[in-house]
Amino acid sequence: KAFPLGRSLADALRGRPQRALQALGGVSLSVNRGETLGVVGESGCGKSTLARCLVRLYEPDCGAVRFEGKDVLGLTGEARRSYHRRVQMVFQDPYASLNPRLSVGDALAEALTVHRIVEPSATRDRVGALLDLVHLPRDAADRYPHEFSGGQRQRVGIARALAVEPSVIIADEPVSALDVSVQAQVVNLFLELQDRLGLSLVFITHDLRLVRHVSHRLAVMYLGKVVETGDTEAVFTAPRHPYTRALIAAVPQVDPHQRSTREAVRGELPSPIAPPPGCPFHPRCPIAEPRCRTEVPALDRRHGGWPVACHLAGAPST
Ligand code: SF4
Ligand code: MG
Repeated sequence: KAFPLGRSLADALRGRPQRALQALGGVSLSVNRGETLGVVGESGCGKSTLARCLVRLYEPDCGAVRFEGKDVLGLTGEARRSYHRRVQMVFQDPYASLNPRLSVGDALAEALTVHRIVEPSATRDRVGALLDLVHLPRDAADRYPHEFSGGQRQRVGIARALAVEPSVIIADEPVSALDVSVQAQVVNLFLELQDRLGLSLVFITHDLRLVRHVSHRLAVMYLGKVVETGDTEAVFTAPRHPYTRALIAAVPQVDPHQRSTREAVRGELPSPIAPPPGCPFHPRCPIAEPRCRTEVPALDRRHGGWPVACHLAGAPST
């Protein structure tokens, strides 16, 4: 649960000596086959760090990641290679996963070859099929990443992830760098592919409206912790954690007749280096009590319903 710095946390620590810090703790999540789990929270809450733990770019020093019942962190050799193939990541910036000196066709062929997905003689056909899958023209194979628009490049990134026939895709803010007009197309591509291929998807975003559109279940993160997790519609309809309530209230309403308080979450996100004691949300919480400053609320199904980490969470009202 404490591990080397992620990029956003490194930003927070700029100018300080590098050291390990507790970036995640009390994170308990699961994703089922063919399901989308949305992970939301402000930037710096640990979403990307969580994603990198799931694909083993970071090794947490305690806790567990299980895949099909097996502890992933203990895997070695062929089992480890297999896990790396079956759990793929799609990044906000597809450049992160694309070699700028390889044509798209060569990049996809490389992925197919490394993991021996098809016979060498079938590589060309498979590259074409992957481009079809993400709705890019087949002649895209001869072009280089910089020749594409942001949206097209993200399609290439998705094709690259799909090349190795994964079961799970971890998508970290996959559309937040794209023009709004292009975002919906790429989001719909994810939904289409999930449906066609039966993928499990972990969709990480700070965009509440997007997460409501794409996810079956939801996890809300705050300062490295999951503070609420449950069925997406149930959580949106009757959020139980004050932080979730504030996030949802801050989403602009599309319907002008429906009044929104539009109250953004007040105050600043505290430094992840020195998180507040007790409930980490207490400095910003409108209903905090004295005990919130000293007692850490556990993430549990208090009063029935879905898990929430708040001393004052009542019974779910749905
Ligand atoms: Fe607010 Fe206390 Fe609940 Fe934390 S535990 S969210 S401070 S009421
Ligand atoms: Mg991030």
